[in-house]
Amino acid sequence: MLRLDLLHPQLSGNKWYKLRLNLQAAKEKGHDTVLSFGGAYSNHLHALAAAGRIRGLKTIGVVRGEPAEPINATLTFARQQGMELYHVTRADYRSKNSPAFIACLRERFGDFFLIPEGGANVAGVQGCADIAELLNWSTPVAASSCPSERVVALACGTGTTLAGLLLGRREDYRILGVAALKGDFLENDVRTALHNCGVADPGNWRITQEWHGGGYARFSPELLGFIRGFQQRTGIPLEPVYTGKLMQGLYRMLERGEFPRGTEIIAIHTGGLQASPAFVENIPT
Ligand SMILES: *Cc1c(COP(=O)(O)O)cnc(C)c1O
Repeated sequence: MLRLDLLHPQLSGNKWYKLRLNLQAAKEKGHDTVLSFGGAYSNHLHALAAAGRIRGLKTIGVVRGEPAEPINATLTFARQQGMELYHVTRADYRSKNSPAFIACLRERFGDFFLIPEGGANVAGVQGCADIAELLNWSTPVAASSCPSERVVALACGTGTTLAGLLLGRREDYRILGVAALKGDFLENDVRTALHNCGVADPGNWRITQEWHGGGYARFSPELLGFIRGFQQRTGIPLEPVYTGKLMQGLYRMLERGEFPRGTEIIAIHTGGLQASPAFVENIPT
């Protein structure tokens, strides 16, 4: 497992990779404020708040839905990092990419550098290409069992991280995305992301829709039980939105014998543990 969750105490997982080049671009273009979007448990807003403080940029988080009392740990942290939170109705949130809505935001907050929800833009993809350099295969291709196969598996929300891995891939391995939401559109989004980066689809990847468990942030007692058992056996914490579904899916695929003997699999732990306590409080014992 590639433990991106251990990257930094406040900036864990893939979100930093999606933000790095965006924040660089904001600074290069002379902005002192960055604005982005997310839900009340957003790993993206959490990371943006921390990264903005570290990089000396003011941050504004446009949050889906009315504020709840008491304010949750994710938003408390974001505010402590200096992020200004702006709650909008779910209806307004759905129009967040419309020019009219963005014009309203500019009227309200003045000039800002905009990062789309989840950091899903070209700079986000390009930043994630760096993740490919962290893959540490334990067996050289020639020496591993025959037929040797290498697989990198990761959870997908927007597919930005997977597209970045494809961009950064220099060796011969297959990439398996595990959708964390119902998203037939995901493979297309990855192709579009690659296209926007000016590269052709290199192939040898796919996204499975089999393990989202009913949709985004939907989780069953079985999934929560799996996460608990996994942590007990390995000491590695997972969360139920992304990495729990990834590992549960991978284990089931292994049980089914979907990977040939001798396959080396690296699962990417994309982090996201910051919101976990709120989700897993009720894990059955
Ligand atoms: C955002 C996130 C993902 C999904 O990344 P995408 O680039 O949107 O596919 C996966 N895992 C965790 C923990 C995340 O926070």
